[in-house]
Amino acid sequence: MSQAAQRHEFQAEVKQLLDLMVHSLYSDKDIFLRELISNASDALDKLRFEALTHSELGPATDLHIRLEADAKARTLTIQDNGIGMTREEVVRNIGTIAKSGTREFLRAAREQRAKGGAGEGDKSSLPPELIGQFGVGFYSAFMVASEIELVTRKAGETAATRWRSTGDGSYTLEEAERAEHGTTITLHLKPADDDGEEHGMRDFTQEYVLRDIVKRYSDFVAHPIRMKRVNKTKDDAGVESETVEDETLNSMKAIWDRPKGEVTDTEYKEFYRHISHDWTDPLRTIPVRIEGTLEAYALLYLPSQAPFDLYSPEMKRGVQLYVKRVFVMDECKELMPPHLRFIKGVVDAHDLSLNVSREILQKDRQIQVIKKQLVKKVLATLEEMKRDQPEDYLKFWAAFGPALKEGLLSYETQDKDKLLELTLAASTADAAKLSSLEEYVGRMKEGQDAIYFLTGPSREAVARSPLLETFVAKGYEVLLFSDPIDELWLERAPRFRDKPLRSIGRGEVQLGTEEERKKEGEELAEKQRELSDLLTCVRLVLDDEIKEARLSSRLTTSPACLVSDANDMSPRVQRMLEQMGQAPPKAKPVLELNPNHPLLPKLQAVFAEDKTDPRLALYAKLLLGQAHLADSGQLPDPEGFSKALADVMLRAV
Ligand code: ADP
Ligand code: MG
Repeated sequence: MSQAAQRHEFQAEVKQLLDLMVHSLYSDKDIFLRELISNASDALDKLRFEALTHSELGPATDLHIRLEADAKARTLTIQDNGIGMTREEVVRNIGTIAKSGTREFLRAAREQRAKGGAGEGDKSSLPPELIGQFGVGFYSAFMVASEIELVTRKAGETAATRWRSTGDGSYTLEEAERAEHGTTITLHLKPADDDGEEHGMRDFTQEYVLRDIVKRYSDFVAHPIRMKRVNKTKDDAGVESETVEDETLNSMKAIWDRPKGEVTDTEYKEFYRHISHDWTDPLRTIPVRIEGTLEAYALLYLPSQAPFDLYSPEMKRGVQLYVKRVFVMDECKELMPPHLRFIKGVVDAHDLSLNVSREILQKDRQIQVIKKQLVKKVLATLEEMKRDQPEDYLKFWAAFGPALKEGLLSYETQDKDKLLELTLAASTADAAKLSSLEEYVGRMKEGQDAIYFLTGPSREAVARSPLLETFVAKGYEVLLFSDPIDELWLERAPRFRDKPLRSIGRGEVQLGTEEERKKEGEELAEKQRELSDLLTCVRLVLDDEIKEARLSSRLTTSPACLVSDANDMSPRVQRMLEQMGQAPPKAKPVLELNPNHPLLPKLQAVFAEDKTDPRLALYAKLLLGQAHLADSGQLPDPEGFSKALADVMLRAV
């Protein structure tokens, strides 16, 4: 006895999405078929994979997708014998939106409307390309259907479920029957256009239309997409007869093992969309062929923009593993190191066994070899791009530079040198341009023995830092790093082509020829001796906050700055570790004062008159506060600083 159909409400976000779909004026409505076929293909892959380990489900043979059109009834059916869904899965997968990509789509749609100045209800202001850009999946079928019916039966179970909706706020669920596991989706098509133009909806009950769409979007789908073809023949006596045969609409040619010259750019891009669900074209397509003792083909893609979750641990990694064209697993992280996690694509390893598990993969020698080759090829592609298409490379760097630099942290990476070659940074040489380390080295002054750099919380903050003053004045170029990751890899004292990278915010600074350094060093030591009591006084006042107060050779115009002692951890690394819940050793900064600033002799005069003058403590606090502001734009003790400032003003006014 079957129960009566139960009515359910869609999640609010699904309603919004459906509203957009139902009223869409999007001209390229054909893409709904791609979405449904891609879902069917996923379901077939899932079944094949599950059947490997659950013998009761298998063997998964004759996996296929079938299209059936009925022109009279105006229906189109898409059917698969894949994994199917339980009732709960139908509710979860078809009644709610789990994908953040879809949320992203809704957000973009709302923004577009707001920009157009149109009200919520005005559908016409939704730019048509939006839907094509986002893979909005199953719901896109409501662009062409006034009602959708889905009957599905999960592999391994006997009960089937029928889901129906007209794309308004709700759907119904009831028990159903289905002879085999899999899913059947029946679209009750909206009336065909007679004006064609405006709504752009073709007659999806026509064989040639379906054939054309499948060829365009789904030719590489690895499972046969079948459709019945009716052949009409006349015999010698002129009597008409019909034969019906199955036609496979797609070539199923795995795009990755076809020679490069045979695959068109459009095919590469379409395949990218198929596997990545990205709506923009890839920045680069990278076909890889590994031959010799082991054989593998890969088709990798460098996306042109970063996914919103690039830095989230849950990010969907991009490489799929196939064995001899059979899909084995998604998100195969054994094939790409974390710093290349944004690379999308497929890898087809010919010599692996089909039922490899993650555990086996981690130890598998072949996988190691393949991974190494893939990384090599990706880095070589990046190198080439950096050399030959610098504009593309800048785009890449803006999107993925910080992720790529994570590779500089790993102790395992053999490719650190290559990553350094690929690294770009802002520089004092040209505020408007990023520099490579190679370019920096080419501009180094004679006798310069290190690559100077400065790190900070933002590009603006580093560019403004007083620590740069002497370097700029003496014509030494400094690289400016401001990604959080920079603090960490630079902390490890890397070398580029045998030159050490040296922080200018750390230890003491000596620039120029041997002679110049000697002379400057002596002068500074002399002044340091003269002012040593004053400096001690400053240190004592600020004892909790600084390690030492000394004279600086870094400053030309600013009165003070903060630096780290040569062997201490940088303050930002300390803060980062603290944020990660660790307790690094507390290292206090060194306060450096500019011996050539007019303030210093005046302070000295106050000090000489009366060592206990309360103004000394106030001035010291202000100097420290100022140095903090120049360093990070932030004060550790804003209240104390304001008080000291008010106090000084009061005395001066
Ligand atoms: P996506 O495919 O990106 O996950 P869709 O909106 O296309 O998003 O589909 C939503 C979900 O519905 C799928 O993830 C899948 O779990 C389920 N689904 C859709 N079509 C099928 C199908 N033919 N067989 C099994 N499950 C399906
Ligand atoms: Mg889908």
